Amino acid sequence: MATATAPKAFKNFINGEWVESRSGKVIEDRNPANSSELVGTFPASNAEDVNLAVAAAKNAYKTWRLTPAPKRAEILYRAAEILVKRKEEFAREMTREMGKVLAETRGDVQEAIDMTYLMAGEGRRQFGQTTPSELPNKFAMSVRTPVGVAALITPWNFPMAIPSWKAMPALVTGNTVVIKPAEDTPLSTYNLVQVLNEAGLPPGVLNVVFGDGPGAGAPLLNNPDTNLVSFTGSTEVGRIVSEACAPSFKKCHLEMGGKNIIIVMDDANLDLAIDGAIWGGFGTTGQRCTAASRVAVHKKIYAAFVEKFVARARSLRVGDGLDPAIDMGPSISEQQLKTVRSYVEIGQKEGAKLATGGHRLEGGAYARGWFHEPTIFTDCDPKMRVAKEEIFGPVVSVVPFDTIAQAIEIANGISYGLSAAIYTRNINHAFLAQRDLETGIVYVNAPTIGAETHLPFGGIKNTGNGHRESGEAAVDFYTEWKTIYIDYSDRLQRAQIDNAE
Ligand code: NAD
Repeated sequence: MATATAPKAFKNFINGEWVESRSGKVIEDRNPANSSELVGTFPASNAEDVNLAVAAAKNAYKTWRLTPAPKRAEILYRAAEILVKRKEEFAREMTREMGKVLAETRGDVQEAIDMTYLMAGEGRRQFGQTTPSELPNKFAMSVRTPVGVAALITPWNFPMAIPSWKAMPALVTGNTVVIKPAEDTPLSTYNLVQVLNEAGLPPGVLNVVFGDGPGAGAPLLNNPDTNLVSFTGSTEVGRIVSEACAPSFKKCHLEMGGKNIIIVMDDANLDLAIDGAIWGGFGTTGQRCTAASRVAVHKKIYAAFVEKFVARARSLRVGDGLDPAIDMGPSISEQQLKTVRSYVEIGQKEGAKLATGGHRLEGGAYARGWFHEPTIFTDCDPKMRVAKEEIFGPVVSVVPFDTIAQAIEIANGISYGLSAAIYTRNINHAFLAQRDLETGIVYVNAPTIGAETHLPFGGIKNTGNGHRESGEAAVDFYTEWKTIYIDYSDRLQRAQIDNAE
């Protein structure tokens, strides 16, 4: 168990045992608020490690698939109880490795708790259909069956929640699992795996291999014994995952980037919309797939909105997320901070107006962290790169508009389709927007972030490939339908032919 003072050398978890990587190499997990602080070292796994984990999962599948689902669910339920007890400790460790403020890392662990309880409930709810046959003395039904070995590849921004969104439905439906978490936030996945192990998962049912994408992620995709892949991350890597799965038709779920919009109509509750734009834009330092990185504001209230929005952004306190007085933590890494810096330059070159922020925070308490000012570009043209591309940092682009039709056109004029929000008190506008916005999630009078675990989560266009996380949608993804006909007539009965007489 890692403590706040002692960095530890962590290992992979394969076939119920903590084991060293065959590579002999490690990746350092450092605090992005203070990069001199080493949280721990994790294996830089290679194909050999991955293949051992997949073999263990394949072997465990033989018995796990036959374990009654309510029994599988009892283990999940126990895991949820342990997560509840250790929530604060796990939240603190997550802030240390990921940077987001404690209130948000508590939320991240809570999301894992919610998902684990929800999926524990699914142990007794994996319903199929029973239906009359078109022929006499014949019975028809459908049942869910597991898919096999599930390969789960996850990002760093929700380091416990996202692995739980994938692992819990996979496990309760009878699949066995190999997880490859993001290299920047391995500790939170380690904590989740450790909890499931303590709750009583049999050896090999859940395995974790730490490491980077090419070293440990790619072999997982290429191993012929992984039957299903669930990936959350960038659209760029999602395409690689999709292509790797295609030749052998692996069932593949991709949740990728976003450029989410808040539309503020002239009849909106302005203060409420500003609260939403601040939380949506700068929560998690803008590093949410659902971050509100664009705000389209009706011209009638544009000046008033911008004035208040900028003032609120300036008042945000940036720093170490473990300090309860802090509103916004650092970027995850030096590389991510560089991306933010480059988009600030791009926005200025494109002619967007830098209304506040735009600088890296340096010196003093910021000296060893990857901190950046909350930044707002105003008077943006919707075609500018800062208004169309995912930045994944504390940068929001504000775009003025005249009509609801224009606002929806702006909203839909990008390649992503994850989340969108509208602030209005006009019910007609709210209904038009929820119908016409091309996203998987729409909020009315709330920001683009705030998914609940029992509803489908995911996006369209370049954000997703047609599947959804969470709720019943997740049970759909992690199972295959098997349709069963039982003919007890003792004669040949031909569907579509004999019933036509
Ligand atoms: P990323 O694509 O760089 O990495 C995601 C995961 O893929 C990591 O575990 C990484 O090691 C692995 N990976 C990288 N290259 C690989 C390869 N060649 N083969 C196999 N695996 C590989 O993304 P990130 O920087 O960790 O996360 C940020 C991105 O994730 C953003 O684009 C964000 O929008 C997206 N995201 C989407 C959702 C969603 O639900 N739609 C949720 C959270 C984050």
